[in-house]
Amino acid sequence: MRPSNTNILNGTDSSSIDGAVSALRGDELVAIPTETVYGLAARASSRTAVNKIFTVKGRPSIHPLILHIAKISDLEKWTKDLPNNARALVDRYWPGPLTIVVQRNQNVCDEITGGRNTVAIRCPDHEITTELLRRLDDAIVAPSANRFGKVSPTTAQHVAADLGDEVKIILDGGACAIGLESTIIDCTTTPPQLLRAGAITVEQIQTECQVTVVSATGESRASGMLDKHYAPECEIELFNDRDQAETRRSELSQLGTTSEILDFGDDLALYAHSLYARLRDADKRKIEVVIAVRPPWTGVGLAINERLEKAANRL
Ligand code: AMP
Ligand code: MG
Repeated sequence: MRPSNTNILNGTDSSSIDGAVSALRGDELVAIPTETVYGLAARASSRTAVNKIFTVKGRPSIHPLILHIAKISDLEKWTKDLPNNARALVDRYWPGPLTIVVQRNQNVCDEITGGRNTVAIRCPDHEITTELLRRLDDAIVAPSANRFGKVSPTTAQHVAADLGDEVKIILDGGACAIGLESTIIDCTTTPPQLLRAGAITVEQIQTECQVTVVSATGESRASGMLDKHYAPECEIELFNDRDQAETRRSELSQLGTTSEILDFGDDLALYAHSLYARLRDADKRKIEVVIAVRPPWTGVGLAINERLEKAANRL
């Protein structure tokens, strides 16, 4: 980990956004705040810049990237044959924490999609990044600004600790409001499939858009579908209630193992918001075991449980 903070700029300063736009135009990487997690951004029209993302993250090139756009009407620059279901989702949830997978057009380079004829795309809900996209007048690709397989960053300082000077500029937009990666829906299948759970749930989509989304089948298509991901250095043990967690903490303490309990009761939004920051903090303090009390399996609780399981996996 590197303590360098020199490239963190206050994202609410207009000059910082201009600096980030220049860096992106020069094919450099910039870290950006979003409502989900911090993204490692490259200009979507530059193959050189897009390739840098895979190198810096250590991300296999078969893991395609999510394209980020400023507004719904930018969809037509990058996609074709938008199905009605996809239209209903973006009208309801954009800007917001929802990514759709749809047919791409020739403006999307193969590096972004791993050669697929589909593209994942979303419109983030963060005024700094929206302004950046407007001034750039291009889309960006932006996976989470961390090394592949590790815990996503939810503050500018997390990005600096992980990637240091490998990003030209880190735009500081404060702590991410949601704290978990976007929900991903594949709209190229009938019915659409959930590739990754997030703050927007399948139940909500059913009720609010009358679109039925089913579980994903077939080969793994999102990093969120790997068995192990989002992993800290410490071990994570999962428990269904606080009492079991307390018992385990006493056992570990008698063994001389340092541990702490992660528990937010029924406050799902706080759990999502705090999860990654708490795991990073535990690593920083060399805690050996984090004992996580699972949230209820409702709403964003599904996404939190999914992240906890993958983070806990010792595969
Ligand atoms: P992240 O890892 O957070 O950047 O999320 C990106 C995830 O979206 C990837 O790991 C992908 O596998 C998934 N994704 C991106 N593009 C596509 C696509 N064209 N088809 C299916 N999944 C995609
Ligand atoms: Mg990621």
